[in-house]
Amino acid sequence: MPKGILSVVGIGPGHDRHMTPAALEAIAQADLVVGYGTYIRLVRHLLSGKEIIRTGMTEEIGRARTAVERARAGGHVALISSGDAGVYGMAALVFQVLRELGWRREASPELRLIPGITAISSCASLVGAPLGHDFCCISLSDLLTPWAAIAKRLEAAASADFVIGLYNPASGRRTRQIVAAQEIIKQYRDGGTPAALIKSAYRKQEHIVLTDLNHMLDYEIGMLTTVIIGSSHTFLFENYLVTPRGYGNKYTWDGQVLPGQRPGRSLATTAAPEPVESLSGEDE
Ligand code: SAH
Repeated sequence: MPKGILSVVGIGPGHDRHMTPAALEAIAQADLVVGYGTYIRLVRHLLSGKEIIRTGMTEEIGRARTAVERARAGGHVALISSGDAGVYGMAALVFQVLRELGWRREASPELRLIPGITAISSCASLVGAPLGHDFCCISLSDLLTPWAAIAKRLEAAASADFVIGLYNPASGRRTRQIVAAQEIIKQYRDGGTPAALIKSAYRKQEHIVLTDLNHMLDYEIGMLTTVIIGSSHTFLFENYLVTPRGYGNKYTWDGQVLPGQRPGRSLATTAAPEPVESLSGEDE
């Protein structure tokens, strides 16, 4: 039996222009394309002549199993996922199915993992540069994760002043979580902190709201929305959200090093202590 191929493909936010050439190629080479109905629709024009298996939202396990089994039997299968398949997507589930089957790397199918632009990146690009410094992503879906674990992560992220990206913030039935998340974050962060609600980035229904932590719940937030909440350093500039990386701590805007600071060395926070260890060249 010929060795099959399973490509797990991230198709990006929803428009071909934001798909990588590798993702386009993986789809072009596949005989069978498996995916959730909405994602199949986004790439339908790339699928002529191919067998298609589309499934519903709650049929992830079946979708992963089908893709693995058909590839194991010698097919060339592309399992597609929006954004990056490795980020709240199908890739991890594929590995769980493979582990269950006792798959080995040298066995069929050959696995190809094709990265895509994940929602936090595509959404950030539509509202400026909110991820210019440390950020984290938290999914508010408690369908498979206990709420207590999610609440703990929200609290940790808020208290450590991360920019916070929220995936799966709400759906038709799931509306309490975003309210609880706002409440937790507000315990640590000013109500005027900039926030952005990005719905259907790079798709026809794209809709963007710039707001702040206090007012974010005044707007529609659904299953196609990603929420970005700034850190204490995030500022608004010309209706863009910007989280500075800290260049202003070390340099003037004409490139001079500020007194007490040294390029390539840890930021001096008191009266310029001599750094113990050189970090030069670490951070190009
Ligand atoms: N694998 C996907 C994430 C799947 S989880 C990725 O890497 O992007 C589904 C969540 O992702 C949605 O609830 C929403 O929060 C976010 N999302 C996915 N595509 C989006 C888009 N085009 N615009 C805004 N948010 C999106």
